[in-house]
Parts: sequence; C-alpha cells; structure tokens
Amino acid sequence: MSEMDRRKFLKGSLAGGVVAAATGVGAKAEAARTFEGYADSMGVLVDLTKCVGCRSCEAACNKEQGLPAPDKPFDDFSVFDEHGHGGLKRRTSEKAYTVVNRYETDKGPVFRKFQCNHCNEPACLTSCFVNAYTKTREGAVIYNPKVCVGCRTCMIACPFYVPAYSYSSPINPIIKKCIMCYDTRLKFGKPPACVEACPQEVMTFGKRKDLIKIGHQKIRSEPDKYIDHVYGENEVGGTSWMYLSSVPFEQVGFSTHLGNQPILNYVKDFLAIVPMVLCIWPALFTGFHLLAHRKEARKAEEEKSEK
Ligand code: SF4
Ligand code: SF4
Ligand code: SF4
Repeated sequence: MSEMDRRKFLKGSLAGGVVAAATGVGAKAEAARTFEGYADSMGVLVDLTKCVGCRSCEAACNKEQGLPAPDKPFDDFSVFDEHGHGGLKRRTSEKAYTVVNRYETDKGPVFRKFQCNHCNEPACLTSCFVNAYTKTREGAVIYNPKVCVGCRTCMIACPFYVPAYSYSSPINPIIKKCIMCYDTRLKFGKPPACVEACPQEVMTFGKRKDLIKIGHQKIRSEPDKYIDHVYGENEVGGTSWMYLSSVPFEQVGFSTHLGNQPILNYVKDFLAIVPMVLCIWPALFTGFHLLAHRKEARKAEEEKSEK
C-alpha cells in the first residue's frame, strides 16, 4: 500500500469507525481540537546524521523493558539486509520496541532508529474505546495492559505503524510498544535507556520546546549538512520524538504525507453525525478476536483429547 493509499485508508478507517469510542466521542473530538501537548513535556531529538547502526539502543531497550531474546543477536548486522512483508523494513514488534534500519539514499547508507513517536495528540489514544492509553505530562504515551482488550484498533489508527500485538501470548494477547521508559526512567526525570546507551550521542533528551530550538539552530549553523526540516515538530499535531536528517525524510522511510493536523481532526465532523456506526466497529474487532481465540483453544483441546 503506497503512503497516499494508506493515508486515505487511515482516514477511511477512522471515519469508518475506529476512532469513535462507544462513549465520549464528542468530548474526545473537542479535546483534540484544543489540546496541543503539555507545555513542559520532554522529548528526544534524533540526529540521523550521527547514527552508525550499532544497535546498542535496541539492546538497551530489550534489557530495560525485560523483553525476550531477539531472533538475531544485537551484534548481528545482517538484520539490515532483511525485508519484511511487501519489502518493508523491520518494524517494531512484541519483542522489539525499537528497531534500527539502513536505507540507501542519495548520500549513501543512512541508519534510522524507529520507535513510538509519542504524539502530542495520539491517534492510538483517541482510537482506543476502553481508554487504555494515556499521554503523560512528561510526554510519554503509555498504556494500561490490564485495560487493553486486544481489539487492535490502535494498530490501524497509528500513522506510524507502531503498536505491535503480542500474538505469542495465548492467554491475554495485548498491544505492546515503547513507553519512553516511563515507569523506570522518564517519570523520575531520567532519559530513556536507548538514549543513554547510544555511543554516538545520536539522541538528545530535553524539553520538547528546547529541542525544537536546538534542531533549528543546528540546521542554521550547518545548512549544507541538514535538510531544513525538523520532522515531528508539526507532523500530526507534533510528536515528542523529532528528527534531523541530511537527506529528504521520505528516503529514510518517514511518511511525508501525514499533514500537520492530529489524525482525529480529519474525522471530527464525521464523528459528530454518525456515532452509532462508530460504536459498532471496535466491538466487531473484539468479537472477531475472541472468536478466533476460542476456536484456537477448542482446536488445542481436541488435539489434546485425541492423544
Ligand atoms: S506514534 Fe502511534 S503509537 Fe505512538 S503515540 Fe503516536 S499514534 Fe500512538
Ligand atoms: S524509550 Fe525506552 S521503551 Fe522506548 S525505545 Fe527507548 S528504551 Fe525502548
Ligand atoms: S545506539 Fe545510537 S548509533 Fe547505535 S544504532 Fe542506536 S541510535 Fe544509532
């Protein structure tokens, strides 16, 4: 699916029912219209020109978040030659909340770290009908696994394809993603583990508003090195993680067609007129999931009794 097709699909999906929760649709739409992020929230500025693809950030995240061992060790760089479904680069998963990919660009190979961007007005949050997500004052977008019912609406809503699904958990499959190390670090004012582990100092941790100034300052002082754009300053209403690059962002896998409006704004007028259709969609998702899960459990039981 091309980026434009995805954007249309995204808007269509949201308009078709993902965003509107069973209750509080109007309140959420209103909130999205006025909320522009917490003034003193923290963020990370990622300078792609400095990244050497060492994967230390992946290893640090794995340790900090207590994730299972990766399919290939962190010192195996053959992962950069991997292509997933449809030729896509590696994506985040239940086992990896961040991944680094290599892109061939006009200026040679460029490495890019990828994780949740912690949007100011997160589509995942607004799409979740059980309110599992929270945007914290510190800037992180976190979720409550006890509330998540595994309906996967947030996976469709996220413009950056971030939330992953814990398919390997037979009992309680839920969404998994980067939480900006909120529980162990961010809420104590400490930088995320991946930021601290990077030997190249690719990532700068600080107040989001200061990082925007730093980003533009760097571009001004080295105009031949950077393209004149801080990605994430405005995209989808702004994100806590922002990026500087020496090549156009589309060459390193960023979507440059998302616009500057929060995703919910595309559908807020629609939400106001057709709430009933919207209520049904998440319920259907959940129903399909539970049905599939029940079928799997029955099959396992049958196989067991045949032995
Ligand atoms: S990048 Fe996706 S998962 Fe992360 S906060 Fe934004 S919408 Fe949510
Ligand atoms: S901020 Fe924390 S959870 Fe997110 S990618 Fe970095 S180490 Fe992992
Ligand atoms: S630790 Fe730093 S240099 Fe190494 S891959 Fe991650 S961001 Fe790039």
